[in-house]
Amino acid sequence: MPDNYDLIVIGTGPGGYVCAIRAAQLGMKVAVVEKEKTFGGTCLNVGCIPSKALLHASELFDEAGHVFGKMGIKVGTPALDLPTMLRFKDEAVDGNVKGVAFLLRKNKIDAHVGIGRIVAPGRVEVKAADGATATIEAKAIVVATGSDVARLKGITIDEKRIVSSTGALSLAKVPQRLLVVGAGVIGLELGSVWRRLGAQVMVVEFLDRILPGIDTDVARQFQRLLEKQGIGFKLASKVTAIDSSGRALKASIEPAAGGAAIAIDADVALIAIGRVPYTAGLGLEAIGLKLDNRGRVPVDGHFATTVPGIYAIGDVIAGPMLAHKAEDEGVAVAEIIAGKAGHVNYDVIPNVIYTSPEVASVGKTEEELKASNVAYNVGKFPFSANGRAKANQQTDGFVKILADAKTDRVLGVHIVGADAGNMIAEAAIAMEFGAAAEDIARTCHAHPTLPEAVKEAALAVDKRAIHM
Ligand SMILES: Cc1cc2nc3c(=O)[nH]c(=O)nc-3n(C[C@H](O)[C@H](O)[C@H](O)COP(=O)(O)OP(=O)(O)OC[C@H]3O[C@@H](n4cnc5c(N)ncnc54)[C@H](O)[C@@H]3O)c2cc1C
Repeated sequence: MPDNYDLIVIGTGPGGYVCAIRAAQLGMKVAVVEKEKTFGGTCLNVGCIPSKALLHASELFDEAGHVFGKMGIKVGTPALDLPTMLRFKDEAVDGNVKGVAFLLRKNKIDAHVGIGRIVAPGRVEVKAADGATATIEAKAIVVATGSDVARLKGITIDEKRIVSSTGALSLAKVPQRLLVVGAGVIGLELGSVWRRLGAQVMVVEFLDRILPGIDTDVARQFQRLLEKQGIGFKLASKVTAIDSSGRALKASIEPAAGGAAIAIDADVALIAIGRVPYTAGLGLEAIGLKLDNRGRVPVDGHFATTVPGIYAIGDVIAGPMLAHKAEDEGVAVAEIIAGKAGHVNYDVIPNVIYTSPEVASVGKTEEELKASNVAYNVGKFPFSANGRAKANQQTDGFVKILADAKTDRVLGVHIVGADAGNMIAEAAIAMEFGAAAEDIARTCHAHPTLPEAVKEAALAVDKRAIHM
């Protein structure tokens, strides 16, 4: 007799493991299926956590070399011990994945290690690494199989010299010249890491701007700041081939609109052109579940697929490929399966780029508001006028609040500046509660703090910022 559950979750990334825990809290008997040796998915193993550990360590390395002296802290020229820095990153991963294993045990969730294949609605076959198979059954199945790196046609990722984000998290030495293909979040974060550790970094981007989808004003300012840090950009350009036969890589780069190619030499090339949904081996076609034209699992407003009893969440469905979006969907689908009213508010999903300075946003961009003919007011406040930023000499960037011209309701908040990623939480809460810019402006903010710039930007919506 196969083991019988209320719910089987395939994949233990932030979508899957959070869904499993919420379902167990709601009284369900739950199993997870995971093909890797450790739980936590892309985010904990090769994504959010290791990249943030390296961003943190490399930022301190850079500060020790360039900022400490100004503050009267004499440490001499810092020396890089890359193996130890990589170990620091691995320890961060280890602590987090063990944490998930503990939470699964604590919530009495059975973990089946192997590749999960849905053989029929309610039935999953799990194939272990040694080839042994077992079948488990449940009333409901949640597909949370996440995403994989997108590849460039004709360019083979070897994870040594031509790397994806995964290889870029473990380079054995600092490349002299790093070519980053794609000016999205992952390319800019990992480009920043290796720049701070000493690499010359050139970013090639197909579009004529960095960070598509981010407010243009913010993206422009951010590009200038990255250029000041020594990162080079080649926009409106495409990498068409990388020759790896010689000692140096030779990348052919053409204008996006077509034209003559130029060659750029590099020691390592990071392919960071995005991620694609991952459904390999799941057997979806055989059970009549068709993917959309971008390889995603189509779901309705309740995360239900077209096959009864099968749901999907996270990177494998439409929407921003973000860990916290996957987590919130995990909670919502568990609640829906339990007969409750699970819900995700897609208008308020924060987005953070953990560079220095950080970039964070939530809600609509100016471009989106213009495109949908929404009249809005803008309140903008620079960190150069914020007392704490001045004290810390971290004055780059600004806060921009977009508020409805008629109702003053906050529609979008965009921040470039130190600690933007923490500051955006205030904006998200305000928007979730339907706040007006006036509500933020009248909320007492502690002094001296960087979030006072959020309050000032809210005052600036009504043209009454105090410190400007
Ligand atoms: C370098 C990098 C940095 C990132 N940084 C951030 C960040 O700072 N903040 C943020 O919000 N997001 C970040 N992301 C994105 C984030 O990692 C993803 O959005 C998130 O992991 C998606 O969660 P998920 O649960 O949908 O899928 P995943 O985390 O991809 O997990 C899917 C799991 O399913 C398993 N699986 C797949 N198929 C099967 C199968 N058939 N059987 C069994 N198991 C299977 C996989 O092994 C995996 O463990 C980053 C990504 C990368 C690559």
